[in-house]
Amino acid sequence: MPLVLTDRVLMGPGPCNPYPEVTLALGRPMLGHLDPEFIAVLAETSERLRQVFRTANPLTFPVSATGSAGMEASFVNFVRPGDAVVIGVNGVFGERMCDVASRCGADVVRVDAPWGQPIDPQQLADAHPSPAMIAVVHAETSTGVRNDIVPLGELKGDALLLVDCVTSLAGIPLEIDGWGIDLAYSGTQKCLGCPPGLSPLTVSERARERLLERPSSWYLDLNMIAKYVTGEGARAYHHTAPISMVFAMHAALGAVLEEGLENSWARHAAVGAQLHEGLAELGLELFAAEGHRLPELTTVWVPEALRSEEAALRKQLLVQHGIEIGGGLGAYAGKLWRIGLMGHTARSRNVTLLLGALAELLDR
Ligand SMILES: *Cc1c(COP(=O)(O)O)cnc(C)c1O
Repeated sequence: MPLVLTDRVLMGPGPCNPYPEVTLALGRPMLGHLDPEFIAVLAETSERLRQVFRTANPLTFPVSATGSAGMEASFVNFVRPGDAVVIGVNGVFGERMCDVASRCGADVVRVDAPWGQPIDPQQLADAHPSPAMIAVVHAETSTGVRNDIVPLGELKGDALLLVDCVTSLAGIPLEIDGWGIDLAYSGTQKCLGCPPGLSPLTVSERARERLLERPSSWYLDLNMIAKYVTGEGARAYHHTAPISMVFAMHAALGAVLEEGLENSWARHAAVGAQLHEGLAELGLELFAAEGHRLPELTTVWVPEALRSEEAALRKQLLVQHGIEIGGGLGAYAGKLWRIGLMGHTARSRNVTLLLGALAELLDR
């Protein structure tokens, strides 16, 4: 074995390197899921989440499953069969939203933009006269594109505004209350610097008034979960919280808040700019539209001459240099690289390491 797994620099779109204090928190002694000490950690975790989401929403907590469960909870608790749901699609995760919404029986109204381009907010607003919901991905991890959210808060009318914040939370500016977002979910393994396993979710009071009484999912039923996680009324067992994951997220949010949320945004912006400049100096071309490029997830064209050995190059990066990067998805498989700079991975030294390794491998 050339390298042990713990040496990896995780620059893919998947999990980032966790903050060191997060790895330590995973080793905390186990507590029962109704132990007052655990309930206190859960309450503090939800309070830290409110700060990172920039919201006062009482119903803010980590769903006990990965980011996709936050997506599912956001649809299954609010969408009735026949409801019009407008969804922006410019990558894999917008597509996934359509799939989830249609399984709830929604009348899905798609607004497509080409991969690499942002969605036009006005087009979303004009797509249907009175939708129950407008849904969009803030940071499209499949393409490296940031979609504009601010205009949607102003244009949403009576609709609920749902935003996928899996790859944006703690990585780029996001204001749940300030931007008029009603529903948002995230993941732990992207810019929060935590292993995968939980999905932070926040629900506005406006959305809460529209909660379905009996959603088709038992596990994700927010009426029941709210009783367990908020302590409003008597705290009742619903499911066993993944205790160690909550410890890990508590520590990750602590690390983000200790650094300062705005400092975390600034760090992601600085290393993203460093990477974008360095790739250009190597003669590589960025994929995402200028002005809408994410610092935390960079998409770059694989030079045409190297496409036949694209997978082998990524393997060499992994085995020789201990660096993981991601490949393209769908029509862009074999043509794009996706480079993550999220959470604890978003460090200048990691950019230097990757650029040096790429220069060597590409002989540039
Ligand atoms: C990663 C990701 C998801 C899904 O999260 P999982 O933790 O893989 O379930 C959803 N949306 C976006 C934008 C993502 O990047």
